[in-house]
Amino acid sequence: MPHAPAGRRSTPSTSQLDHVVIGGGVVGAAAARSLAARGEQVLLVEQHDRGHEHGSSHGATRISRMGYTEPDYVTLTQRAWDAWAALEAASGRTLLDRTGAVDHGRPEVIDAIAHALERAGVPFERLDLDEAAARWPGLAFEGHVLAHGTAGRIRSAETIEALLDLAASDGAALRFGVRVTGLDDHGDTVTVHLDDGIAVTTPSVVAAVGSWAPTLVGEVFAGRGASLPAIRVTQEQPAHFPSHLPDDAWPSFVHYPLDGGDVYGLLTPGEGVKVGFHGIGPVVDPDARDRTPVAAEVERLQAYVARFVPGVDATAPALISCLYDNSPSDDFVMDRRGPLTVATGFSGHGFKFAPVLGEMLADLATGGVPHPRFAL
Ligand SMILES: Cc1cc2nc3c(=O)[nH]c(=O)nc-3n(C[C@H](O)[C@H](O)[C@H](O)COP(=O)(O)OP(=O)(O)OC[C@H]3O[C@@H](n4cnc5c(N)ncnc54)[C@H](O)[C@@H]3O)c2cc1C
Repeated sequence: MPHAPAGRRSTPSTSQLDHVVIGGGVVGAAAARSLAARGEQVLLVEQHDRGHEHGSSHGATRISRMGYTEPDYVTLTQRAWDAWAALEAASGRTLLDRTGAVDHGRPEVIDAIAHALERAGVPFERLDLDEAAARWPGLAFEGHVLAHGTAGRIRSAETIEALLDLAASDGAALRFGVRVTGLDDHGDTVTVHLDDGIAVTTPSVVAAVGSWAPTLVGEVFAGRGASLPAIRVTQEQPAHFPSHLPDDAWPSFVHYPLDGGDVYGLLTPGEGVKVGFHGIGPVVDPDARDRTPVAAEVERLQAYVARFVPGVDATAPALISCLYDNSPSDDFVMDRRGPLTVATGFSGHGFKFAPVLGEMLADLATGGVPHPRFAL
């Protein structure tokens, strides 16, 4: 595709479109931004309002950290760390507060993270329980403890705005409150049907629809002999708790309790310390969920917080409701068949990679090969 001249471009008419990006969560916003920055003519379509709270991307904060046990993901976090700085420079906004992160709990997990970080050359520290408690009085520690500085807190709502603004300034058209009702695969092109009666035919669709991927694109991929892995959509319910401590007392943290499970937490300035059990919520239909909290899980979260997060008031949770699009392996799913690219399966850990995911999807949509780990 030829590159348009640099600078502000006019909104593409549907006859000139190179790509329709479906989904205005962080992944769709990042894909639209990366494509538009390459001079591609892009239309982004989102069924809900800009900044809506019905999917996986809403809320003011997310954790960015390099603490994975798997080298593939550590490598991607290293790419992402640089990509966040580049996105901040391009947008002129602070998007990442570099607070550092601490992991603790099951020794075998912490030791595997240490091993993966060591192999990747990521600096980290091991602390004993007394050292950790003295450094972070808001947390109670168990098992092994590891901290690393190349981690922090993403200003997530602001990131989506930055990506959408950059996409628009590079000429992308953004449409909110418009739902894609169907896709017709013609071989080299796809017709995208919108619920306002408009149909757009394009050589490339990027379906960055997270929890909606099975219903929107499952059949189209099946028609091409490729099956999406089973995506299990769950409704998760972390909560903010009022902090007793100053803001700079809070690192991003992940706890692998000795008796099982995963817990994450971080400060959201002005809202409290967000704490959540990772990926334990009930399976839901993303279009028909009532956001009712599971009372027993609220109690379990409060009991957890009372024991392991002494720097907050465990009696006053402000609940959050959001979706995870869980793949069977927790690996992302990003691949292309003909004119159709899909992005799903972010399994509750995709935000930290957002600017890199945008680049990977732009590569795929313009003829690149998938990351082998994320291919169908
Ligand atoms: C509570 C919570 C905490 C998290 N914490 C972290 C964290 O600390 N660190 C981290 O890295 N990750 C974290 N994650 C995961 C991360 O936020 C997600 O992986 C990421 O936001 C996924 O973005 P997405 O764009 O794929 O999905 P979504 O934000 O759900 O976007 C998909 C979009 O597609 C739209 N759409 C669907 N169907 C259609 C249609 N037919 N027509 C038009 N539009 C359509 C939807 O409306 C939606 O806006 C967390 C997730 C949750 C829920």
